[in-house]
Amino acid sequence: MLLVSEPVLGAPEKSALSEVIDSGWITMGARVRAFEEAFARLHGAEDSVAVGSCTAALHLILHALKIGPGDEVLVPSLTFVATANCVLYVGATPVFVDIDSADVPLMSLAEAEAKCTGRTKAVILMHYAGYLADREAWQAFARRKGLFLIEDAAHAPGLPTAGTFGDAAAFSFYGNKNMTTAEGGAVIARDSSLREAIRQARGHGMTSGTHQRVNSRTPDYDVTMLGFNYRMDELRAAIGLVQLKNLPRWNERRRRLTALYRRLLAERCPSVAAPFSAPRESAHHIMPILLPPGRDRQPVIDRLRDCGIQTTIHYRPVHRLTLYRDLYPSVSLPRTEDFARRELTVPLHLRMPPQAVETVVTALAAAVEPGAAIGAVA
Ligand SMILES: *Cc1c(COP(=O)(O)O)cnc(C)c1O
Repeated sequence: MLLVSEPVLGAPEKSALSEVIDSGWITMGARVRAFEEAFARLHGAEDSVAVGSCTAALHLILHALKIGPGDEVLVPSLTFVATANCVLYVGATPVFVDIDSADVPLMSLAEAEAKCTGRTKAVILMHYAGYLADREAWQAFARRKGLFLIEDAAHAPGLPTAGTFGDAAAFSFYGNKNMTTAEGGAVIARDSSLREAIRQARGHGMTSGTHQRVNSRTPDYDVTMLGFNYRMDELRAAIGLVQLKNLPRWNERRRRLTALYRRLLAERCPSVAAPFSAPRESAHHIMPILLPPGRDRQPVIDRLRDCGIQTTIHYRPVHRLTLYRDLYPSVSLPRTEDFARRELTVPLHLRMPPQAVETVVTALAAAVEPGAAIGAVA
């Protein structure tokens, strides 16, 4: 089966794990610190904070910015549920904003502006599929409205511009992301006092960590804020250090596979659209395509599966998930809903050869082009 995504893990990761085990120190220590510094460097930042997941990163950011009950946070609905969940964690209200268009499925600035109220405190941008939102326009918007600007950069690690938009950015190293530590995440926050508050809240709000206490004369610590256990460990950091070295080269390979997809789709599958038709900085995390309006998606999914090709959907809109529909029943985002009905994500990962792109496009053409065995609903 050609999967939508697959991690690349091998001998270097195995030996990095062995070294940690042999070292006798497995919880947060020198490797986590080295990973934080290397991750920050790749994004032109002074420092970063490694955490257990991107979800933890998002929670820590909102917590440290003191966003809470009564506050509203602008979020996309075309995203993974964690982007909105973190707003609920701190007791604030997520306000869902529609996408720009089917070709640019990123948060619409015009609609974000229209949904701002006196209670709006922050906006969380998500760089869908790895394609960056318009940095200057969102910075100007956040300044004008006095909002915190936060990036859910789960799809865009390794892009020097990701993490430079505003107050803080959250990254994910889950198994299907551009680089992985199995589970893991990081925060980039340019302001050092915000960053250190996030670092402290990651470890129970304690003023020093276990590793620091072993290496100092004072075994004592204090707790000066409410914190969480959102730590990364040495095993994950060791894998992360290996993966991070490969990330720029891996993102370049994703770019080439995406370019091939775009060329072959235009030639052989003209009724299928590939969003982001205009050049835009991207980490090429996934390959979303849009079926023609009105086309029944399930037969296409089945046809590709019969050819040994997995497809997924990014995403079922968050405001349509039962939890959120029950909480906010009146939300309507027509562009997001239309996009989510037509979207299919086809395989894009580093273990697939360029010929696999041809295989996918050929199977897709057989399923959707006029004269193909299965017809439109019309
Ligand atoms: C994967 C993902 C997350 C969550 O990441 P975890 O590390 O699994 O918590 C959040 N937002 C987006 C957009 C994601 O794709």
